[in-house]
Amino acid sequence: MSDHYDVVVIGAGPAGYVAAIRCAQLGFKTACVDDWVNPQGKPVLGGTCLNVGCIPSKALLESSERFAQARDQLGDHGIGVGDVSLDLERMQARKQRVVRDLTQGIEQLFKAGGITWLQGRGRLLAGKRVQIAHAGGEAREVSAEHVILAPGSVPVQLDRIPLDNQLVVDSSGALEFDQIPRRLGIIGAGVIGLELGSMWRRLGSETVMLLEAQEQFLSIADEQVAREAYRVFTRQGLDIQLGSRVTGSERNNGGVEIRYQNSAGDHVVEFDKVIVAVGRRPNTEGIAADEATLLLDEWGVVHVDDQCRTNLPGVYAIGDAVRGPMLAHKGSEEGVMVAELIAGQAAQMRYDTVPSVIYTFPEVAWVGQTEQALKAAGVDYRAGVFPFAASGRARAMGETDGFIKLLADSQTDRILGAHMIGPHCSELIAEAAIAMQLGGTAEDIALTTFAHPSLSESFHEAALAVHSRALHVAQKRRPGRSR
Ligand SMILES: Cc1cc2nc3c(=O)[nH]c(=O)nc-3n(C[C@H](O)[C@H](O)[C@H](O)COP(=O)(O)OP(=O)(O)OC[C@H]3O[C@@H](n4cnc5c(N)ncnc54)[C@H](O)[C@@H]3O)c2cc1C
Repeated sequence: MSDHYDVVVIGAGPAGYVAAIRCAQLGFKTACVDDWVNPQGKPVLGGTCLNVGCIPSKALLESSERFAQARDQLGDHGIGVGDVSLDLERMQARKQRVVRDLTQGIEQLFKAGGITWLQGRGRLLAGKRVQIAHAGGEAREVSAEHVILAPGSVPVQLDRIPLDNQLVVDSSGALEFDQIPRRLGIIGAGVIGLELGSMWRRLGSETVMLLEAQEQFLSIADEQVAREAYRVFTRQGLDIQLGSRVTGSERNNGGVEIRYQNSAGDHVVEFDKVIVAVGRRPNTEGIAADEATLLLDEWGVVHVDDQCRTNLPGVYAIGDAVRGPMLAHKGSEEGVMVAELIAGQAAQMRYDTVPSVIYTFPEVAWVGQTEQALKAAGVDYRAGVFPFAASGRARAMGETDGFIKLLADSQTDRILGAHMIGPHCSELIAEAAIAMQLGGTAEDIALTTFAHPSLSESFHEAALAVHSRALHVAQKRRPGRSR
């Protein structure tokens, strides 16, 4: 006889484990199936995000920023630190402790919530039954009133540059280097490639070349922000080659030879390490038996409606395995929404207020629509921009690159988008997301008092600039809409 649950979740990444916690809070008998094992062979919760994604990358980014500050910037503050040295082994050990503490924290939350952790690979069968295969053990079966699929995603691989997990690695391998690669090649100048590239550059890589097939840099971001990011990142020493398509690779004298083509012709370049960061794809192979008749598209994306219902009654799918941005917080919010829907509550997630962040230095962040999208849609809008160079706090910090841009509807003044590059933008973007969630206008922000001196004053000033009345930057009086 199989165990029966109110809810079985497959996948314990930020989408699945959050769904399980919320289901348990709502009083459901909940189980969560997960197959992740760490390099020591121990099953751990947290999925990509906690084990090889958001958390370890941010731990190393933080360490690399502190190292670069001590090396390059503290002198300017009158602080002498002598020769700054790098102990990469210790830095990696610290990162590992951060990961361990957080994954164990989820284990504790599961225990506290009475959630059953079923270790092994889950597969949806017909009739909301789930088969769990355990390496070296017998498969078991459980059944549920509701099943939530949250199997996440895996890195896309390129046939032209096969991974060897030594010289050619994916993003997981790039977080494990035990030496600073002198010449680092990165295939893909997207969010993950930029974060990893800027991190290893700060830690001492002499060459960091990013080969990007697209002609346009950071096409997902607002064009004005992308231009500023390109300027700042190239000044930091990132060699970003746009419109460059990799055609092949070869191991060579302890390094890797990469061949690529762009409008200037064919090129060959040698690296000590290469990171392939060309995107991620849903990890849905084998997630459901044929008899379950789960609908997926040709890319393996599980088909869902805007409340994450699949084509099967009582079966939901969330996180990286479904449409929308592959972001941890998007998956978590979907998990909460689905748990509340199962409980009969009226839950609806706002996809238009999901923020995106690139954790480079300075950080890039946005929420809502870009200026180019508004133009393409023919929306009448006003833009207000405030540069961090005019912010007293940013000047005191010595971090004056970048700006905040706010876009508001010309008729209603509702905020349609916020785009920023600069210090602590990963935190500042929350102000815009909250304002949008509450249906706020540029005037609402203009009427709010912000602490001085703070970076958030720049958000205030950008809102004032929407109506050409920013106080700490000269304003041109602009008639009508700003295009
Ligand atoms: C280097 C890197 C940095 C990132 N940084 C950020 C960031 O700063 N901010 C951000 O928002 N996002 C970031 N991301 C993306 C983020 O990690 C993902 O969006 C997020 O982890 C997706 O959550 P998820 O729960 O859908 O899937 P995952 O986190 O991928 O978790 C899925 C889990 O399900 C398990 N699983 C899969 N199939 C089965 C099965 N059949 N049976 C049992 N278990 C199964 C997997 O082993 C895994 O444990 C980053 C990603 C990478 C690679």
